[in-house]
Amino acid sequence: MKNHGTDTILPTNDRLKTGDGGIIMTNLEDLMNWARLSSLWPMGFGLACCAIEMMGAYASGYDLERFGIFPRASPRQSDVMIVAGTVTFKMADRVRRLYEQMAEPRYVISMGSCSNCGGPYWEHGYHVVKGVDRIIPVDVYVPGCPPRPEALIGGFLKLQEKIRTEHPLAPTLLLEIMQQKA
Ligand code: SF4
Repeated sequence: MKNHGTDTILPTNDRLKTGDGGIIMTNLEDLMNWARLSSLWPMGFGLACCAIEMMGAYASGYDLERFGIFPRASPRQSDVMIVAGTVTFKMADRVRRLYEQMAEPRYVISMGSCSNCGGPYWEHGYHVVKGVDRIIPVDVYVPGCPPRPEALIGGFLKLQEKIRTEHPLAPTLLLEIMQQKA
């Protein structure tokens, strides 16, 4: 053992015993959630003007990659769908199909008023779906017309909060069967 003033450098074995060797104590579920929320991969697609703000959020000024958020060109490699823009009835079928092609667990961020509720078309837009949650489940709504990139980043932080509290290892099927029998 060496002494350097007030600091004490322990031999390797002692460092491991006392935790100085960089040991982290956690449970598997928290570790999985941390990995998932730190590597969200949104699908690279947009529907209307809100998509321009989404692209701005991906650019170097906002640098979404510092959160591990990295757009992918295929729904099969994506776990987040950002619905950025007006969802017309013509596109609704495609949006639903893309959602179904994504790997599970998958999440949806509704970005902007059009996607949230029909936006400026909510009353007279005969061709617009009045909220994308009528065709796919939405996890986070980002308000605005259009929302700024900061608002989208806020939406991602909300989604990360949600993922942090999930229980991916819970035996949900078993619990459902037990509830049915009770
Ligand atoms: S919410 Fe506004 S900015 Fe976004 S797609 Fe609709 S009209 Fe365009």
